Amino acid sequence: MIRVGMGTDIHRLEMGRPLFLGGISLPWEKGLVGHSDGDCLIHALIDALLGAAGAGDIGRHFPDTDPSYLGIRSTTLLKQTREEILPADTVIYNVDAVVTAEEPRLASFIPTMENRLAEILGIPFSRINIKAKTNEGLGDLGRGEAIAAHVVVLLQLSPHYVD
Ligand code: MG
Repeated sequence: MIRVGMGTDIHRLEMGRPLFLGGISLPWEKGLVGHSDGDCLIHALIDALLGAAGAGDIGRHFPDTDPSYLGIRSTTLLKQTREEILPADTVIYNVDAVVTAEEPRLASFIPTMENRLAEILGIPFSRINIKAKTNEGLGDLGRGEAIAAHVVVLLQLSPHYVD
């Protein structure tokens, strides 16, 4: 069974917080606000994976009302999604992502993010593609108040899991 999944997320930026995005730490004066580390790219990726698997959404599996997830690294949540929620024989064909951030410029960090996410998912680096865009100065994203991510995945599930 070939299945597509999509996920989106947005988190506010706040001065003086560490910035985690795509599973890595970026040097920047602002960081993403969230119950976890605020990594909107990983959250969108988790929702895309769960969607493709017909397994609900990130809020169902990792509720932000649960204090055990307070401050947790999103890389941990992604690892748990891959290893404990998706069936073990799931094949992830590819991940395609768009991150919208006015600042900082992300281009030079993208290969490191792709490597990190590929490592966690246990797939070749070539199966992950991340694109960075600005919002052309428009709206909350354009004012640098938030970072947003959109992710699609294509995966193969065993028919016995789906039917
Ligand atoms: Mg989120």
